[in-house]
Amino acid sequence: MSHEFSYEELKAAERLPSPAGVALSILQLVEKEEASIDELATLVQADPALSARLLRFANSPMVAPRRPIVAIQDAVALIGMNGVRSLVLCLSLVGRYKTGQCDHFDYARYWSGSLALAQAMSSLCALSRLAAAEEAFTIGLLADIGRLALATAWPEEYSRCLMALQNANDLRALEQRCFSIDNVALTRLLLADWRLPEIFIEALCLSHEEKEPGEDRCGRLARLFVFSRSVREYCLAAEEERSSLEDSLAGQLKSLPLQLELDEWLPAVLDEWRAWGKMIEVPTAFPKHEKPGKGKKETPLPGLKILLVDDDRMLLARLGKQLQKAGHRVTACRDGQAALSLLLQDMPQMVITDWHMQPMDGLKLCRALRNSEVGKELFIIMLTSSESDDELVQAFDAGIDDYVIKPVSMRVLLARIRAGQRILSLQEELRQEHALLEQKAKELALANRRLEQMANTDMLTGLPNRRYAIRRLKQELAESKRSGADLGVMILDLDHFKQINDKFGHEVGDKVLVHVAKVMNQVLRTSDIVCRFGGEEFLVIAPSTGLMAGRKLAERIRSALEATPPPKLKLGRPVTASIGVASLGGGDEDEVDIIRRADHALYKAKAAGRNRVLVDGG
Ligand code: GH3
Ligand code: MG
Ligand code: MG
Repeated sequence: MSHEFSYEELKAAERLPSPAGVALSILQLVEKEEASIDELATLVQADPALSARLLRFANSPMVAPRRPIVAIQDAVALIGMNGVRSLVLCLSLVGRYKTGQCDHFDYARYWSGSLALAQAMSSLCALSRLAAAEEAFTIGLLADIGRLALATAWPEEYSRCLMALQNANDLRALEQRCFSIDNVALTRLLLADWRLPEIFIEALCLSHEEKEPGEDRCGRLARLFVFSRSVREYCLAAEEERSSLEDSLAGQLKSLPLQLELDEWLPAVLDEWRAWGKMIEVPTAFPKHEKPGKGKKETPLPGLKILLVDDDRMLLARLGKQLQKAGHRVTACRDGQAALSLLLQDMPQMVITDWHMQPMDGLKLCRALRNSEVGKELFIIMLTSSESDDELVQAFDAGIDDYVIKPVSMRVLLARIRAGQRILSLQEELRQEHALLEQKAKELALANRRLEQMANTDMLTGLPNRRYAIRRLKQELAESKRSGADLGVMILDLDHFKQINDKFGHEVGDKVLVHVAKVMNQVLRTSDIVCRFGGEEFLVIAPSTGLMAGRKLAERIRSALEATPPPKLKLGRPVTASIGVASLGGGDEDEVDIIRRADHALYKAKAAGRNRVLVDGG
């Protein structure tokens, strides 16, 4: 929970993936209680690509309609409001984030893999009847969204992170070091934000943990996630590599309570995956050992990209040929107007233009270029038949950098181009320096954020520390007073903790503290803030939580602690805690007052025999 504030920050800065356009309207519509299927269908129809994909989904074996669905209304009715909501979310994200700025993040492989995972999850959930196919599809498609989020929020830093990665298993630790959060935690926050079913989110997180998932629904879903990830690797593997993966899949399948013929199931998954890939334009065939991002950047050829503009066909052909011979890449056209439209397409570095042309002459072209963003940094050479002072001044005023007298001497023209090239490369150096500075500023900001994070974090448990707790409590108090919302505060103190230290040593005591922090994080809601307040004391800030709700929450923590022994430590008795709860009263009390009241309730809980929750004034 210590990263919570940076998440809000990123979200506010709109740097996390989010849906747009029609998709956003659809998500908003479904939120409304009175929304009807017809309204929803009308909105979907506004986006032809979305309509096509929804129809495809409605007709897929996942939904398996009894007759082919051709009308959007029928598709929407069949898939249901929530199904449509989730699908729209996915499809719009795929559409928006198919490429991006993060060089070492392979966007195509990411989406293709997500699609395979979605396909596997939805089929497995339907077969095992653990969950609805369309819900499983959505959660499968978004199961790694935290990675995309990191690539979107910090493209350059994440690219470097991926480049530095030696072993795929170290990714999360590396992310933690670079961003104080890893992709799994970020996935959890995003999915919770999009209000996907909690059971899925929990199962997904569980599937990333080292411990073996249990036999309850959550645990069984977690196993399906693990298996689906292997299926994803199977799909992404090159054709010739697949058969070697089948044995391992068969082995994993044995531990799943599923009646499944792999020989039939895998080809079906591959087929559906490919069909979906075609539908949403994501590749579904990858060559062996493809390195992400490789071959993306072309190495620049020597010479310049030159746009040549002259109405004299013969001259155009001759100059074009000779410039090409000198190593430049040349596009040619015959008047200013044509040059402007070619410019955006070809993005040349230099323009060599004649003066007198119809309908747009060289002077007008020059002015238009200098007034546009793309034309500002171009190097412009004008070909002119007159060298009169008046005309030259006119040409320089229009924005040319240099001129060459007609008839053109190729030697002179090439010499002037070389001079221009020197200026262009200086410009490029400046630009790169500027980009580097910007990059450094960003890194500095990131380093500052990390330092700030460290100053606010307790190193043992990873929870926010006392300093953060007090500052945050001040903020939450001000916010609650402003909005009139409740605010709950609780202080938890471990019972007889000294005995643990005395009996088993300080190190075991430390492990118990880490365990307690983990249990509290699991029990609390995302909106609650838990901090290590001191030695074996924790403070919980619970926004929008009154005294009674606070007591309930505290009781959940207390009983969870009592019921969850720290793994691998044989303490001989449960770890228990006493908790004092207070909530914001009237008047203008500050954080010191409310902490004092919670502390007082805690003191009474200790006096009354420990391992209990007492509320302020109760
Ligand atoms: P009770 O609260 O139930 O009255 O008994 P207690 O034994 O928990 O109470 P007390 O406040 O006297 O003891 C707290 C102990 O916590 C004292 C200190 O040695 C230990 N402690 C504080 N910080 C740490 C820490 O970071 N690691 C470990 N291992 N022990 C710590
Ligand atoms: Mg204490
Ligand atoms: Mg204590």
